[in-house]
Parts: sequence; C-alpha cells; structure tokens
Amino acid sequence: MAETLQPTAPRGLYLHVPFCRSLCPYCDFVVVAGAAAFGPRSRVAGYLTAVEREIDLRATALDRQFGSVGAASRPPLETLYLGGGTPSLIPAEQLARLIDRVRDRFGLTAGAEVTLEANPGADERGDLRGTAQAGVSRLSVGVQVMETSALRSLGRRHTPDDAVTTVAAARAAGFASLSLDLLADLPDLPFDAWAESLDAALALAPDHLSVYALTLSLSPDESGDDRLATPAGAVAWRQRAAAAQDEERGAQELEHLDVRLPAAGYAWYEISNWAQPGHESRHNRLYWERASVEAVGPGAHAFDGVSRRWNSADLDAWEGALSHGTLPPGGSAPTAAGEEAAAESLVLALRMARGVARDVASSAGFGEAIAWGEEHGLLAAHPDDATRVQLTLRGRLLSNELFSRIV
Ligand code: SF4
Repeated sequence: MAETLQPTAPRGLYLHVPFCRSLCPYCDFVVVAGAAAFGPRSRVAGYLTAVEREIDLRATALDRQFGSVGAASRPPLETLYLGGGTPSLIPAEQLARLIDRVRDRFGLTAGAEVTLEANPGADERGDLRGTAQAGVSRLSVGVQVMETSALRSLGRRHTPDDAVTTVAAARAAGFASLSLDLLADLPDLPFDAWAESLDAALALAPDHLSVYALTLSLSPDESGDDRLATPAGAVAWRQRAAAAQDEERGAQELEHLDVRLPAAGYAWYEISNWAQPGHESRHNRLYWERASVEAVGPGAHAFDGVSRRWNSADLDAWEGALSHGTLPPGGSAPTAAGEEAAAESLVLALRMARGVARDVASSAGFGEAIAWGEEHGLLAAHPDDATRVQLTLRGRLLSNELFSRIV
C-alpha cells in the first residue's frame, strides 16, 4: 500500500536576499542590481521590513499547523541559510535583527548552522566581524576563480586579492566554518590556469569547497513566476561563452579535483561539494535528504515533506502583498508521490558519497538501474560498506545517464 506522506515542521529556513551591486551575465538567481541595491534609491530598507513580515506570517502559519516553537511537534530550526543575491550587502545591525527575528519566531537550536553568502569585493563583503557577531556561524564566499581575466570575463567585481583579503578578514572575525564557491568549465580558461586557480584557492585553507560547472541557460524567455527574465545582453554573452566551453576540459577538471582535493584533506560528500571533516553543509544536506525547509524572500522555494511552494520573484509583487499584511503571491505543487517520490529520493541520495543500500534500492523497484550503473562503472560498492553503492568518478561525470534511468 502506498505510504501517505504528511507535511512536517521545517528543520531549516532559507532566506533569500535579492540584491547585488551588479549583475553577472551568467546568473539565473533572483537578483535586482544597481540602484536598487545601494545608494539613494536602494530598496534594501523596504525589503527588510517586508521580509520580517514574511517571517512572522510564515511562523504564525506553522504555529497553527504544528504548534508553537518549543512544543514537541515544532522543534526549533537546525539551520538558517541567508542566500542570494549578495546577503553580505545587508548591514550587520540589520542582519542581527533578522537573525533575532528568526530565532524568536522559528527558534534556532543551540549550535544551529547559520550560513551567509558573501562576495569578496571591497564594496560587497560587508562588515565581517559584525556579521559573525550577528550570529552567522558559517560564511560561504563566492570566489568563483582565482584568475583576474577570468573574473573580469564573468562580470565579477572582485579580484583574486580581494578573495585573499576576505578570507583573512573572515578568519579574524572567527566564523566556525568557511566555504569557498568555485566554478569549473569556464570559457577560454585553459586547464593549467584553472588548476593554478584551484591551488590558489586551496592556499586559503577553506573548511569547505563547492565546485560547480558553469551552466548557461541560453533561451531568453525562460522567466517564470519564480524567476526573472534574462536580459538580452546576458543571453548574447552566454551564447558566446557556451561556444568557448569544452566538455572534455570540464571532465579533466573534475578528474583533477578527485585527486587534488583528497590530497589536501577534503573528502567529497556530494557530487559538487568537498569538506574537511565536520564541515559538510548541514543546510544543503536537508535538501538532499528531502527534509522540510521553509523559505522567505522573493523567488524563494520551500518544501514541507509533501508539497513545494515558491514565492513570486517579482520584488514589487512580493513586497506589495507583504506591505498589506498578506502572504506574497507565488505557486505550489504537490511533489511526486509513490514511485516518483522514491525515484526522486534515490537520485538525491545517490548524489551523496554515502550512496544507497542496494537492497533498499532494489526493493523500491530500482534494482535494474543500480545493476546497470554497476555494470557500466558508474556505481561501485561503498568502500566502508559493501551493502551500499556509491557513484564512482565516472558516475559523477556521467550521473545524468544513470539518473535518467531512475526518474
Ligand atoms: S554576484 Fe552572484 S547572485 Fe549576484 S549577479 Fe553575480 S552570480 Fe548572481
């Protein structure tokens, strides 16, 4: 008999900050840039008022559904993630106020992971000491690449030296965990230059590294309720950049990561993420485990264990509704149930190094796909537990081929 899923109280909260000093042409996040982000026409103050209202309204709805925080049915949050955009543009006193508001309305466990995304530019990184004092325990720095011309070509505002300065300031500020975001498969960057850039990032001794291949959506009309339209200039930039990407070079970079990072003390724990022991992202793990995560801010996506919900990406529509004391417009969709949900969970679990138990995957009806993966060298027995399978390096390179046989 199919299991009936029930919504569960959130274990984490994602808070979207949509502001950036300028727009990078490859970016698909919900971002407003330029005059909206700083200066006399800045919309940051209005956003902060609105997001506090949304925190209250979402928490009140959860109080009704699960009981108030502290009750056994509504435990405090284990993680809070301030992502963007560039959340480090929010002044430290305002960050402290936001985090306090979340603590009041959602609760935060002792030792909760509170992550803030920061950019390294002098006019973007904010007051890192004040940020740590505000209650942020984990800083995730958008370094992308430690090579000046590649940064310029990506439209980034910072230099490699800015990344060095930011990491030193973050260490001095005392964050418990420091992560760097890097990109791979960059247009026109030869492998040797990319490998040198990786070494320069490793010299900063981060606790955690995320390395994603640059993905470029090329169609100009991909905007939706939860996304903003891509500017025409960005589409033209992407078309040029995509022509200068190289799949083989991207694969060579992943193979290099697989050797270089373990030698430097990092273990892969998810397809695109490596960490020193104890520094895995607890918030992202909630997504990979299909745990319930609430979300606030324009374009933010939530999951309650049964349904997905998203806010409109339109800052005016989002803020307008909240200024009238009502929840912002958006959408929702019940997630897959039954076999579809099992397939989704299996794919998410396979992204992680701990992999899946062969017998669990087989009894859920995926034995054939697992056997295909093992036969073709995409899956292999987990080194610490032969009853489990995990992706091989080849499997991480070709994961979509395996996943398409599951979903
Ligand atoms: S800084 Fe990050 S969020 Fe902002 S536009 Fe660039 S890629 Fe997008």
